[in-house]
Amino acid sequence: MSETPTVALISLGCPKNLVNSEEMLALLQEAGYAFTPDPVQADVAVINTCAFIESAKSEAIEKILETAALREENPELKIIVAGCLAQRYQKEIRQELPEVDGVLGTGSCGEIVDMVRAVLAGEKPSLCRNISAPLAELPRAVSTGPCWAYLRIAEGCDNRCAYCVIPSLRGRFRSRAMENVLAEARMLAEAGVKEIIVVAQDITRYGTDLYGKRRLADLLVELCKLDVRWIRLHYLYPEEIDDELIDVIAREEKIVKYLDIPIQHIDDAILRRMNRRGTGAEIRALFRKLRERIPGLVLRTSLITGLPGEGEAEFEELCAFLREEKIERAGVFPYSPEEGTPAAAMPDRCTTEEAERRAQLCMDIQADVMDGFAESFLGRELEVLCMGEEDDGTPWGRSRYDSPDIDSRVVFSGSAAPGDMVNVKITAVDEGELIGEQIGD
Ligand code: SF4
Repeated sequence: MSETPTVALISLGCPKNLVNSEEMLALLQEAGYAFTPDPVQADVAVINTCAFIESAKSEAIEKILETAALREENPELKIIVAGCLAQRYQKEIRQELPEVDGVLGTGSCGEIVDMVRAVLAGEKPSLCRNISAPLAELPRAVSTGPCWAYLRIAEGCDNRCAYCVIPSLRGRFRSRAMENVLAEARMLAEAGVKEIIVVAQDITRYGTDLYGKRRLADLLVELCKLDVRWIRLHYLYPEEIDDELIDVIAREEKIVKYLDIPIQHIDDAILRRMNRRGTGAEIRALFRKLRERIPGLVLRTSLITGLPGEGEAEFEELCAFLREEKIERAGVFPYSPEEGTPAAAMPDRCTTEEAERRAQLCMDIQADVMDGFAESFLGRELEVLCMGEEDDGTPWGRSRYDSPDIDSRVVFSGSAAPGDMVNVKITAVDEGELIGEQIGD
């Protein structure tokens, strides 16, 4: 073991899980641990996992086995599995993955230092505390670079969608106190962050548990007072979007006119089976209202194909909706039956291949929509947050219509450096990416 024990932290999954990784990073830093991106150089590898669908589980297990294989070069390497796979399969990990030393549940991130000490002492601890316990305010080491950061405002979910395991992995919905959220946002702004991305499993529910009413609109008004340039909203539950929130989004210039509203489907019977609260007509009406009240709005959504009960007619309705609604950004996932969810016990499920075929058909429709959207910027100027440089030194960045890791980019000629906000004139589109030239400094 090295003089200053060294940790390699590997973060998989969603932005909320990344924030957990950043909290564990900060706690280990405070405890004096060193860090390396390479597990071969580490004493402990912490793998913060995702497990909400089959593909995520496979990715996590692959990463665990891949890391364990590095013991050929680093026999003393200890492995801690944290996050959703640990929470969901703590027993199975113990029985089937002897490579693993420590198992840390989603409600136990605050105990990462104790866990690391224990595995370095040769123990094999499992810590999976109550996942609905009151939220602990933990320090955080932002890992997304100097110019943007996630801001998690709540944990857990009470929506209980029939196909989803997240409530059983992340617990009941719990808002963070507004003063704590604002203190963290202030710290980010003072550190020079230009873009704050507001996340939770369902941000629209913010405040309902702690203050007895929705307070996302109030929170956003306060966030807009900070010295940041963009505030982006992810994971809005459609039925929880009210007029007060729409007014704030429309009025506040800093809130980018880009809303991520996962609807999952549009057919009424499928939405009922999903235990989603709205109807297809209500979703259409909401999108119409949002586009009327928020000029230039860009919508992102998530969809599931192949849920039990989805036949040709229901699927065709989804395709027709995508063609007519022209949602600028979308992720489409083939249904993945997750044991323990109501949907997994439902009859009339098409094959996985068929669910994948339908997802691909939806993405084909979306590809045309997204190409059309990209071409609509030709000849126009866009504000771009410079994120980095290509190998040849060409700057690239994101516009307000691109969220990190899931949307597109802007590649442009110019002198911008990471963190700079610059104006770019769009001159071409290349495979969905915008190409342009920087205007001014
Ligand atoms: S809103 Fe539904 S899909 Fe999203 S985390 Fe909650 S239960 Fe899962």
